[in-house]
Amino acid sequence: MTHPAALMEILPVAIAAVAAACRVTRHVQNRQQHIQRHSKDDMSPVTIADYAAQAVIARHLADAFGSLTMVGEEDAATLREAGHGLLRDEVATAARMAWPAASVDDVLDAIDLGNHDASGARYWTLDPIDGTKGFLRGGQYAVSLALIEHGKVMLGVLGCPNLSQNYSRSFDDPDARGCLFHAVRGGGAWSVPADQPTMAARRLDASREEDITAMRVCESVEAAHSRIDDTGRIVEYLAARGTPARLDSQCKYAVVARGQAEAYLRLPTRRDYVEKIWDHAAGMIIAEEAGAVVTDVLGKPLDFSRGAGLSANRGVICATRAFHGRIRQAINALELFQE
Ligand SMILES: [Mg+2]
Repeated sequence: MTHPAALMEILPVAIAAVAAACRVTRHVQNRQQHIQRHSKDDMSPVTIADYAAQAVIARHLADAFGSLTMVGEEDAATLREAGHGLLRDEVATAARMAWPAASVDDVLDAIDLGNHDASGARYWTLDPIDGTKGFLRGGQYAVSLALIEHGKVMLGVLGCPNLSQNYSRSFDDPDARGCLFHAVRGGGAWSVPADQPTMAARRLDASREEDITAMRVCESVEAAHSRIDDTGRIVEYLAARGTPARLDSQCKYAVVARGQAEAYLRLPTRRDYVEKIWDHAAGMIIAEEAGAVVTDVLGKPLDFSRGAGLSANRGVICATRAFHGRIRQAINALELFQE
């Protein structure tokens, strides 16, 4: 395992990489209408931003550390196909926001640095844009990077370019600065402005609410991502009347970590659905380091030792220490997810 002091040296590099990618994704999101007007269907702005963000982060980490083992959500196979020249050019143009000297080939090669299969003892995992629908809607999305060692998440950086530091601001109202969250195992969870990540960090603390009727639950905007009706049954069983928070992406883990909600439920929609490591690794360590508890719906810790999927787990419950057990009790009493 990397020594905690060494992790603290890796952290600023990971923060700078994610902050650079956030500049790229924000730029593409701002140009979204222009891109849609001037390009074909396969050139969705989210596709361009996804590839460009992965290239920028992979290049940044590989330059800093000399080599890189990374399990990224994207690879450049499609981009390399004949007929995708326009898309390649748009991706390279977007990447140059943070990597001015990049050629098209540099960008494709950097994307493919994220091709690892998650079989080793130590690797990075990246979702360059988590929350595709949120990105397209101008809502919440996340750039999510984590370091996994021997099946344990040791470091996580979560860029949330549209999330405000002002808790009263609607999640549907994109912020101009955004937030970037980071955590190293055992070192607490921290927040900085995404556009100025070297500013003094604020420590995150999960909510200390003890009255279950006040519980605020985070859930997906997209019904396909979580059983919203099961969430409703759990909330009703617990008589929780807090205002629910609906937003896309792993930003939900950060919303729990910073005490803006008490729980994030990702309830299985299908028996055979396997969650991906990059959809949870960074968010999980940030929530845990802020004092929340993260397990699957049956109460088992998330097992990151099985490759790119969380195949030993079903769904996710991220909740404050006071409420996690109550949610598990509700699931048992309602006989949910027993099959
Ligand atoms: Mg993605």
